[in-house]
Amino acid sequence: MSTAWTNQLNWMTGDITRLEVDAIVNAANHSLMGGGGVDGAIHRAAGPELLEACKKVRREHWPDGLPDGEVALTPGFSLPARYVIHTVGPVYAKTKDKSHLLANCYRKSLALAADHGCTSLAFPAISTGIYGYPFEAAARIVCNVMAENLPNYPELQVTLCFFSDADARAFQAVFDEVTRTTE
Ligand code: ADP
Repeated sequence: MSTAWTNQLNWMTGDITRLEVDAIVNAANHSLMGGGGVDGAIHRAAGPELLEACKKVRREHWPDGLPDGEVALTPGFSLPARYVIHTVGPVYAKTKDKSHLLANCYRKSLALAADHGCTSLAFPAISTGIYGYPFEAAARIVCNVMAENLPNYPELQVTLCFFSDADARAFQAVFDEVTRTTE
């Protein structure tokens, strides 16, 4: 397998709302009306226009709410990022494999960003906060989606923005393992 995709992927510890990239991804909920965690931080930093834009998305495209694994784009308003891509990660459940839904969040965000001419995109660790997805399993999904899809978007640079150094280190371990076994 080609490992050129690894040159398109970076990660850091920090606050995603501060990043000067073309688009940031929001780990939103079905309602798109804001919430806790990274969703709340993004709405606070973007300002009240973001909520109005989300209401418009609901009215025009998703009257019943944004389903798991789907994506919707709004402007970034007061954020340094030009766009926000809202996606809904699955709530973790031991008895049901929802890995394809988490993969869809990443895969569809990449495609939507590329459709809008973005060359830089940042993700938070979707579903690993309030939604309870085990971090290592989520990190493996991220690596697999990036390996499969980044070659289709050679202009796109992706930053994974972790909120703690512990998460960044845990991701590094998974990334090292995945790239060792796919080389
Ligand atoms: P979910 O409901 O999808 O689990 P959360 O917002 O609870 O979403 O958490 C997703 C991840 O985002 C967690 O790792 C959390 O620590 C992280 N996070 C929270 N605030 C920020 C922020 N401002 N920037 C980057 N990551 C953040």
